[in-house]
Amino acid sequence: MFDIGVNLTSGQFDKDRDAVVARAFEAGVSGMLLTGTNLQESQQAQQLASRYDNCWSTAGVHPHDASHWRPETADALRELAAQPEVVAIGECGLDFNRNYSTPQEQEHAFSAQLALAAELSLPVFMHCRDAHERFIALLTPWLDKLPGAVLHCFTGTREEAQACLASGLSLGITGWVCDERRGLALRELLPVIPADKLFFETDAPWLLPRDLPVKPSSRRNEPCYLPHIITQAAMWRGEDAEWLMQQSDENVRTLFGIRF
Ligand SMILES: [Zn+2]
Repeated sequence: MFDIGVNLTSGQFDKDRDAVVARAFEAGVSGMLLTGTNLQESQQAQQLASRYDNCWSTAGVHPHDASHWRPETADALRELAAQPEVVAIGECGLDFNRNYSTPQEQEHAFSAQLALAAELSLPVFMHCRDAHERFIALLTPWLDKLPGAVLHCFTGTREEAQACLASGLSLGITGWVCDERRGLALRELLPVIPADKLFFETDAPWLLPRDLPVKPSSRRNEPCYLPHIITQAAMWRGEDAEWLMQQSDENVRTLFGIRF
């Protein structure tokens, strides 16, 4: 089982990062992709990935941080992406839900990162919230130049899922799907996603699954809860959990070109 979205650089893990990683592997997680959300955190994620076994990282600038994008940011990301731990460009994309950066800044940073990924022949690890139409419009010209593309933490509608799949995107599913209040629509569309386009992630420390059999004392999510998310998703898809774990591992190996 491979967690494609762990924000291990988060300050929430400062006190016990080694223990969090150890707990994940003890729980059956076999690898992790550590998310970089700005230049500094992408550098930190790469360093963490080099410190732990079976960890890799992304290098990119999240839409929330797009206002800090500079022409030289692409050069710094290019340099970072030369490290063997870095296997994708991202987290990049659009988030018109909060607009911490203006839509113009977000679109500029997203397009620049798509160009960088195409230049480096790296897959992209993307984020999209309340921006589906512009997201597809900006991404489409790059699709045949990218070796792969995954939209992480997919929480959109069935129509949006179908449009993403028609564009050849893979979808990352988090513990959002375990939320009995706001995750039901996602739960219902899960069977629409072909098994070879399906990835799983915790997005730790965010999005603690709400239906864990034993409630943890803190709200902090950890990669050790990945097996729970996949087991639940397999149930809602009507598939064997073991089989889905193996299939999604295979998807990770194919998309990111890694061995674990
Ligand atoms: Zn995200």
